[in-house]
Amino acid sequence: MPELPEVETVRRGLQHLITGYRIVQADDLHPRALKSESIAPLSTLNGARITGTGRRGKFLWITLDRPFVLVAHLGMSGQFLIQQKDRPSPKHIRAQFALKRSLRKLDLVFNDQRTFGWLSIEELADGVPTSATHIAHDPFDPHFDYQATITKMAQRNIRIKTALLNQEIMSGVGNIYADEALWRAKVHPESLTSELSQKKIASVIDAASEVMREAIAKGGTSFDDLYINVNGESGFFEQSLSAYGREDEPCPRCGALIKRIVFGARSSHFCPRCQRKKS
Ligand SMILES: [Zn+2]
Repeated sequence: MPELPEVETVRRGLQHLITGYRIVQADDLHPRALKSESIAPLSTLNGARITGTGRRGKFLWITLDRPFVLVAHLGMSGQFLIQQKDRPSPKHIRAQFALKRSLRKLDLVFNDQRTFGWLSIEELADGVPTSATHIAHDPFDPHFDYQATITKMAQRNIRIKTALLNQEIMSGVGNIYADEALWRAKVHPESLTSELSQKKIASVIDAASEVMREAIAKGGTSFDDLYINVNGESGFFEQSLSAYGREDEPCPRCGALIKRIVFGARSSHFCPRCQRKKS
């Protein structure tokens, strides 16, 4: 599932590739491609010029020379791809956009196998699309309030993993990077935030920022200029994971076998030796 680093990689790719292009024709090819909250049909984009991109957490948007933006959420498997003549056409195209900039043409498609992703035309409120206004800043956002986020977590009495995944406290962290951050900070995923010191919570937030920054950097270096891709869990960062998806493999730090537990309907991977639960 795409998390912040993957979404940011896609945003950077789009920013680089399609800014300045005009949308000649936009078509949705699946009844669920466009969210029901969209204020207009996709064809409203016809004739609009792309001026840039934005992101809040895992919400991504394309800004236009219009009083609205095109919002995209990649869901579980959403991808933006530039169609290439020498490559087979993607199998799950939900929407397509014919783009033009003077004599140059591009065919951008939104491909989504599992259809949890969506597109939507929305207005901006304080610089953010209406569907993303409840989403908190992520650690890379210049408006991210580090101390306030630590305080917010410390004031709750919830498991640290649950707090990390709560997009209204801090956005961007999904299951993979939550497990990695907790492993790096040596904190058990079930530790209660009220029982952790502010220093410990800070170290978890720092670890989450660090691991996501590394993933963004890798996404950037492996980025193919003409092929914007999000490969979710089996993506480019997989080789660098220390805990996530490594059940029964040795902890890279101490050699104990990584354990997997399930709570909150999600798997958590941790090292039982490095990440002891506070008793
Ligand atoms: Zn360990």
